[in-house]
Amino acid sequence: MCSSLPHTTETVTCTEMAQRLNLVVSRHFSKLTSLSSTRKLTENVSSKPQTASGSEITADHLLYTPEHFALKESLKKIIDQDINPYVDQWEAEGIFPAHKVFKLLGNAGFLGVNKPVEYGGLGLDFSYSIAVSEELGNIRCGGIPMAIGVQTDMATPALARFGSTELKKEFLLPSIMGDKVACLGVSEVGAGSDVATIKTNAVREGDEYVVNGGKMWTTNGTQADWMCLLANTSDGPSHKNKSLICLPMNSPGVHIARKIDKMGMRSSDTAEVFFDDVRVPCKNLIGQEGMGFTYQMLQFQEERLWACGNILTMMDNIIQETIQYTRQRKIFKIPVLYHQSVHFRLAELETEIELLRSLLHRSTALYIKGNDVTKLASMAKLKAGRLSREVGDSCLQYWGGMGFTSDVLVSRFYRDARLLSIGGGADEVMLSIICKYMDTLPKK
Ligand SMILES: Cc1cc2nc3c(=O)[nH]c(=O)nc-3n(C[C@H](O)[C@H](O)[C@H](O)COP(=O)(O)OP(=O)(O)OC[C@H]3O[C@@H](n4cnc5c(N)ncnc54)[C@H](O)[C@@H]3O)c2cc1C
Repeated sequence: MCSSLPHTTETVTCTEMAQRLNLVVSRHFSKLTSLSSTRKLTENVSSKPQTASGSEITADHLLYTPEHFALKESLKKIIDQDINPYVDQWEAEGIFPAHKVFKLLGNAGFLGVNKPVEYGGLGLDFSYSIAVSEELGNIRCGGIPMAIGVQTDMATPALARFGSTELKKEFLLPSIMGDKVACLGVSEVGAGSDVATIKTNAVREGDEYVVNGGKMWTTNGTQADWMCLLANTSDGPSHKNKSLICLPMNSPGVHIARKIDKMGMRSSDTAEVFFDDVRVPCKNLIGQEGMGFTYQMLQFQEERLWACGNILTMMDNIIQETIQYTRQRKIFKIPVLYHQSVHFRLAELETEIELLRSLLHRSTALYIKGNDVTKLASMAKLKAGRLSREVGDSCLQYWGGMGFTSDVLVSRFYRDARLLSIGGGADEVMLSIICKYMDTLPKK
């Protein structure tokens, strides 16, 4: 297996890779013995929930094993020590240092938990990726988790699945190691929801594609080293004329037109990018020419489940912080929390969160067994977007004027989570997909 690895890449050698893998796996999983004995002890002592959700740390979790929990625990330490202390600064600056943060996560193995071992991944199944997405929800903003998710579960799944060995060595391996930042170029100024109508072209000339056009809303776009680009490679029917291509962002003719100023996700840079006769080797094609639309639709499934996992933890945290705040804030001589309309509403929201968690874990369990979960993933994404808006709005209300300040997490969540009903397929697009599976769309 090691012979397939590059010997002198900018990232690692074979020996280094083997050492790193041993280190990462043992670092995450060495806690398992103590973890399980601790769990038995606490279960005997108390029947109270271990976490906010009351469903996380249980020996009989439906999806997660002690290994999942060990991985989450390791990631939590990095978040607490190396990310959260800087989030306010990065939010204020409108960008975070992607190379620095990704290198940190790459060294610890978190940028490729379900990617092949040959390319630096941990070779685990997609449920571990969902566990990571849930843990990343503990970062105190939406922008940085989203940027990490683009790297791990939006720009790279198709490459890992369909890319050639050579392409994976050049783009996947350094992305997993945290040496290269990836972005995903699907949306354009004139085509977001209707992906089939994109206008960017990649025309073959000899052994190169010549790319012309532009991409809009590109997360990580001002910092990325390469783009997973969706472009038209022929004039055929719009679902069969597209291809995914790995496009180095330092190629002549790539212009970063601007960094878009946004109401939320402020620490994540979002770019508008233009391509002016950009020449890319044809070997940078992912899989088969003309299969790009299909690959992208597959890639979207992981993106949507990932986004759902990530927002679940954020919603848990917002509910918990709201409980803490309203418990100590007194109005009309009693804590805000003790007004029935408040604690009943929080209970309603918590119930919905638990239902969404069940849907996510069920969808993930079916997905890792090889089932098509398009309908369930679309439902999960739809519900995640809508529920996070409700959680943000209701919780912010109970913080009163404090909720309207920039000093509290709830106002950042309110702004950041709004994207979920738009990005990665708007709610209406999710509804259309669900209707398609229900066979209720009007016939053309
Ligand atoms: C912060 C941010 C980061 C992003 N990151 C990326 C990225 O990294 N890569 C990338 O490729 N894209 C990215 N996007 C783009 C995102 O996926 C699109 O914004 C999204 O798909 C919607 O496309 P649009 O903005 O063009 O809206 P439009 O397609 O113009 O749609 C507008 C609205 O029309 C409604 N609508 C859509 N379809 C229907 C329908 N069938 N019936 C009724 N109403 C409908 C919806 O309410 C929708 O919001 C990002 C966007 C943002 C804001």
